[in-house]
Amino acid sequence: MPELRYDPTSGEWTIVAAERATRQREFPGGPPPAPALECDPRCPFCPGNESQTPPAVLTLPGLSGWQVRVVPNKYPLLGGQGPGSPDGARGARAARRPTRLSPATWLAPYAAAGVHEVAIVSPSHRRWLPDLAADEATALVAALRARYRALAARRDVRHVMLFENHGPAAGASLAHPHVQIVGLPLVPPAVRRRRALAGRYAARTGGSLWRDLLAAELRAGERIVAADERLVCWAPFAPHVPFELWLAPRQPRASFGDLSDELVRPFALALRAALAALALALGPVDVNYVLHSAPVGAEATDGLSWFVQILPRLTALAGFELGGGISVTTVPPEDAAAQLRAALASP
Ligand SMILES: [Zn+2]
Repeated sequence: MPELRYDPTSGEWTIVAAERATRQREFPGGPPPAPALECDPRCPFCPGNESQTPPAVLTLPGLSGWQVRVVPNKYPLLGGQGPGSPDGARGARAARRPTRLSPATWLAPYAAAGVHEVAIVSPSHRRWLPDLAADEATALVAALRARYRALAARRDVRHVMLFENHGPAAGASLAHPHVQIVGLPLVPPAVRRRRALAGRYAARTGGSLWRDLLAAELRAGERIVAADERLVCWAPFAPHVPFELWLAPRQPRASFGDLSDELVRPFALALRAALAALALALGPVDVNYVLHSAPVGAEATDGLSWFVQILPRLTALAGFELGGGISVTTVPPEDAAAQLRAALASP
């Protein structure tokens, strides 16, 4: 029987309908892509083509010159200066702020202030995080943390997002593995909602939403993929897609900017292991992974935690999801976790 499941951190409902996995598929997926080259002379992110990107804002050295390069996105979602953030610039909130309750402002665009950077994860055109050596993965996370902190310190940034689109089904436009870092001039509604839910939970129960959620998942055990004293990786109870995974610190911290030095390497290796487990269990699969973190200025929010949401792109959103905002998955997370644990345990 299909089940409705609730996610207390986002307020969203999902449906787990395992029976639907047996539906006949008239439209099978396309053929797997040809394996990529180690280096592509036409790729702006490959070594030797550094002049094809804007100048780097951060370069970590490596054996062949650099290991990680962070550059401004040549085609940014956000960028530029100027007023226009709907939330108002930080520190300037007293400035006249248009109200969105007034029809007079509805059709007025705002300047898309903010910043959009790209972290080229390694010199290799082919290898993404699961293929990197431990030191290489650690360098990537160190670079991401440094840029997260730098963007969060800007006056025009109210929220920082990190994500990687791996593969065409995940929306990647360039094959060379890269993580995108976006500093937004506003706090996205979904982020506000997460914070409000944590606050409401604390007010009602006196507890910490994330601490209690982690404790409940660890107690149940059946959705845990990997856990140690520092990090927990699990298939969430109410997933949006089959084989969705969450990776979070065992001691909740609202902001990724507060990732401690001691946790950089363990986190890099845990994220690498989670992505590798998906590839082992599912074969090559396109994936989005997204870092969720508290808005700038809300680092001390109790009951929130930063976490990485990993979304394999095995299925497409269809009318029910688009119309209702309720995801349907055909793989119970309990089954996904069991398969991923087995994949990680295999030699
Ligand atoms: Zn390349």
